[in-house]
Amino acid sequence: MPAVPAEGHQGPAERVPSTPDGGPVVLAVDIGGTKMAAALVDSGGSILTAAHAATPVSDDGESVFDALAAVIDRVLSPSTARPVVCGVGCGGPMEAGGERVSPLNISAWRDFPLRGRLAGLVGLPVVVDNDAKALALGEGWLGAATGVGNYLGMVVSTGVGGGIVIGGRLLDGEHGNAGHIGHMVVEPDGRACVCGGRGCLEAEASGTAIEAMTGHPASAAPDPVRRRAGTLVGRAVASVANLLDLQLAVVAGSVALGFGELFFDAAQEEIALRSRLSFSRATRIIPGALGAHGPLVGAAAVGRRALVPSDQGAMAR
Ligand SMILES: [Zn+2]
Repeated sequence: MPAVPAEGHQGPAERVPSTPDGGPVVLAVDIGGTKMAAALVDSGGSILTAAHAATPVSDDGESVFDALAAVIDRVLSPSTARPVVCGVGCGGPMEAGGERVSPLNISAWRDFPLRGRLAGLVGLPVVVDNDAKALALGEGWLGAATGVGNYLGMVVSTGVGGGIVIGGRLLDGEHGNAGHIGHMVVEPDGRACVCGGRGCLEAEASGTAIEAMTGHPASAAPDPVRRRAGTLVGRAVASVANLLDLQLAVVAGSVALGFGELFFDAAQEEIALRSRLSFSRATRIIPGALGAHGPLVGAAAVGRRALVPSDQGAMAR
């Protein structure tokens, strides 16, 4: 686990009595629909300084960027540690490399030129990736998939996302969107999905879907709903394990972690039923281990891909 400071309040940057470990420092930026955060992260994954603020509810893309710039300034200006690269995790969809992003959870940004604007702001090389891919990288760097060369990282929260590491390399795909496990079909005649399809995992097991189906927030879901979400996530994981010859799924996100044992037990039972090939039979599904700072550690791991292009950072230590 990285040494992480306690989650702080909005306001002054959280200061941690820590110094860089001598390796390259990364400016990590996590952009979510409700919160945006920035941190300086050393090469051991320790967070040196962090700050966060609420994402403005606005139709004006510039005011959202201004708020992000203010958060970044709060970690850069008081620090003596000089980052060499900026890594960013942001909701999708986006163009490859995050040149233009259109996060579903930030309506003010449609084709927003995020990578270039951040590069102009911070004067560093900037690497932008999908936030679920970022978290998958972070789990491989310092979390529950440390030392594992082939795994699936997932987030099950308001939406469902994922990232896939094969042979120590994060898969990107043609447009950078590889790993979108939220749109695997788990119920062929299921609910309509925002993507235009039907019965996608996200339309059946995300916090948004559970709230729509039960009329209550996912945190108030009864046990059968928690088990069903686990079963459906396990169904998707089993197909991925069969397809890609990987044996580990690491799952983070408020819904999965909040549902806890009921969810993970149901998922593991479903995997046991559906991953039956000799190489997939041992597939396990476990909770993520990065905690509240997982998104920032993941964003740092995205930045580290620019430092270690030979192995894409997934297995870099
Ligand atoms: Zn879908």
